[in-house]
Amino acid sequence: MPEGGSPLVFSIPLRIRFRGITVREGVLLRGDAGWGEWSPFLEYDDDTSRPWLACAREAADVGWPEPLRDAVPVNVTVPATDPERAHAIVVAGGCRTAKVKVAERGQSLADDLARVEAVRDALGPDGLVRVDANGAWDVDEAVRAIAALDRAAGGLEYVEQPVMAVEDLAVVRRRVDVAIAADESIRRAEDPYRVRDLEAADIAVLKVQPLGGVRACLRIAEDIGLPVVVSSAVESSIGIAAGVALAAALPELHHACGLATVQLLTDDVAVAPLLPVDGMLPVGPVEVDDDALRRLTAADDRVDHWRRRLESVGQDRSS
Ligand SMILES: [Mg+2]
Repeated sequence: MPEGGSPLVFSIPLRIRFRGITVREGVLLRGDAGWGEWSPFLEYDDDTSRPWLACAREAADVGWPEPLRDAVPVNVTVPATDPERAHAIVVAGGCRTAKVKVAERGQSLADDLARVEAVRDALGPDGLVRVDANGAWDVDEAVRAIAALDRAAGGLEYVEQPVMAVEDLAVVRRRVDVAIAADESIRRAEDPYRVRDLEAADIAVLKVQPLGGVRACLRIAEDIGLPVVVSSAVESSIGIAAGVALAAALPELHHACGLATVQLLTDDVAVAPLLPVDGMLPVGPVEVDDDALRRLTAADDRVDHWRRRLESVGQDRSS
């Protein structure tokens, strides 16, 4: 915390509604090693928010392990939109991998198939198409939809969280030929081990804040022995840098990361926002821009909210 005792709290409007929120808030911590971001979602209790703080403290106080690469590949994300817009998003994104949202409420499988075909057309034959159902299908729907989407895509890289329950994920995995990635099934540190033990997924989506930081995720990746896709919790560039640090330190990185999410925010706290160039994000420190901080500092009542929250999580460094 700075000299005044108030945490640096940012508040950034989102371009689109995400998880029911329209503004992303969080605390920036400055330490000897650099900047860290603590941005647990507002409904999270103290226990859930604690690993998120460990991630921020690691970034600020300790720093990250040596990177093994100087840039990491990322995917463009295609929301559940019409085929023309999906095509345009992929072309504009400049990435070799596209993640396509499917199984949106109020839409049909035909909508998903048309969107995936448009994405394949935009990427060309060498690009990779993955789909994300956010757990919306039941087992039979998933089996049927995955086969059809795999054909429409000319081959899917993988399907992310086709069904919500990890036990169902294991069932679907045994009934389809497409690789399965677990995302919502991995939210707490013990979850990846359950995914492994049930053989519920071929790929683990890991997010550094909920899982307690870069080193914690490296340990998990080693323990579970599954390929990892590093993904974001829609942080500012300060938080995204921690995900990039994990992707850069993994012994093997087979898949593009879901870290190109700064563009979902209308603004950013960083001097050089982590936006992809030619489908890659650079590895390295990210600095906070003082002007941006002035522009994006939350209102006093929100700063109070976050100060109380930080104290309640029980690791207030100023005490
Ligand atoms: Mg997902």
